[in-house]
Amino acid sequence: MTTQPTSDRTAAGTEAFSGQSVKQRNSGNLLATQGYVVGIELSGSGARQSVALADLNGNILHRVRRPQEYVPDSQSVLQLLDEMIAEVTKPDYLHDGRVLRVGVAVGGLVDARLGIVKRLHHAHGWDDFPLQDYFSEKLGVPCIIDNNANAAALAEVVHGIGRGERAVLYLGLGRGIGGGLAVNGRIYHGATGIAGEVGHIVVKEDGPLCSCGGRGHLEAIASAYAIVRTMIGLSIEYPETEAAIRRVTDGRAERITVEQIFKLAAEGDQIAQRVVHDVRTYLGLALANIVQLVNPSLIILGGPGASGGELLIAPLRERIQELCLPEASQSLRIAQSSLGSEAPLVGAVTLALQDL
Ligand SMILES: [Zn+2]
Repeated sequence: MTTQPTSDRTAAGTEAFSGQSVKQRNSGNLLATQGYVVGIELSGSGARQSVALADLNGNILHRVRRPQEYVPDSQSVLQLLDEMIAEVTKPDYLHDGRVLRVGVAVGGLVDARLGIVKRLHHAHGWDDFPLQDYFSEKLGVPCIIDNNANAAALAEVVHGIGRGERAVLYLGLGRGIGGGLAVNGRIYHGATGIAGEVGHIVVKEDGPLCSCGGRGHLEAIASAYAIVRTMIGLSIEYPETEAAIRRVTDGRAERITVEQIFKLAAEGDQIAQRVVHDVRTYLGLALANIVQLVNPSLIILGGPGASGGELLIAPLRERIQELCLPEASQSLRIAQSSLGSEAPLVGAVTLALQDL
């Protein structure tokens, strides 16, 4: 690929626009032809990777996705990512421009300030991994990494439903629960980069075991994975519910989705209603506490767990109103992510662009 080593970020930016007048540099169209950024999504299990090439206006031009049936070790993931990056940065695609930045959205604990992956809860070999340096050295351009929920939050406030909002909480309900806080268009990281990790808020003392080893954390109760696991576990003792699950999943109970569980609850299935009640109780509790502290204007729900749509949002809205001061909850909006499963990858591209 046509990347050149750059000594620092300012140099990279200056070099890209050399020979252009200041006025020309401000032209969006011109910028888009001068270079590109690469966005990378590395999922928390390490089993799903996506890489995109985008122009400097943030338009994704080429992308590759590689879902995998198993959880590979970190070295295999990095090798695969190298191949995918080579694929989206073929000379044909870059024309006469070059890649100026790489942004990475990582589904785990990340110290964005130091560019280090602290830990992936669902995959091995990533503890204290210097991913930012790895890509910077490999590709010869500056790289910026962040947590995938932070990246998704950023994507939503720049390109999605959160546009123009001053304080946004993004919640990714998937295998785990990720969270990101975007304030005035920027991610709020806290002192050590862990701000927004709402999945590990304690909502039920001595509750179910969490992927991090703790007990009663939100993620262990209200992630998409936890909802499905609880529903299937409870249904074993209730033949009617078991039959209902088989009916909506064509006999493949393990494939039931959060959306289907919420629909069963709405149709009157008592076990599904119990599961939904628990989600409302504990997710609502966590969100109410966050709302009271942060006073966001918008909460965005993303990931497979958000597929319940209004069936999930309406009870949460009600619960937050019950628990919060009206001044904090009255103007609060709760909405489903507008970028859906694309949000982390769009976020990775946005991270790279914000760093230029
Ligand atoms: Zn936890």
